[in-house]
Amino acid sequence: MTDKIQKTEEEWRRELTPEQYRVLREKGTESPFTGEYVDTDTPGVYLCAACGQELFLSFTKFHSGCGWPSFFAPSKSETVDEHEDTSFGMRRVEVTCSRCGSHLGHVFPDGPRPTGLRYCINSVSLKLEPK
Ligand code: FE
Repeated sequence: MTDKIQKTEEEWRRELTPEQYRVLREKGTESPFTGEYVDTDTPGVYLCAACGQELFLSFTKFHSGCGWPSFFAPSKSETVDEHEDTSFGMRRVEVTCSRCGSHLGHVFPDGPRPTGLRYCINSVSLKLEPK
């Protein structure tokens, strides 16, 4: 069971940087190849930058070349929620943090084994806790 976090947009705006707010709360996207964790190989745990929930483990991270940190699986299936996203004339699957509802990125069916999935996640939505 996760304890859901509900905050007003005003509270989120106070706690997050403008760029974090734009991506996490307004479903924005950071520019490709600019994020802090695109090329990171540091062992550790990636937490939600908004609420601190554990989201991804470093061993699932791979170099996709797409310009955003990419993972083949979340740390547990219940840590992320998936939603159909038809914005910008595309059919994509949006990924959000299951605890606070913040936008993380999208998941695509072109990842490596063992899952065949690519969780394409904004660096600004993540906080790496090195292990
Ligand atoms: Fe969260």
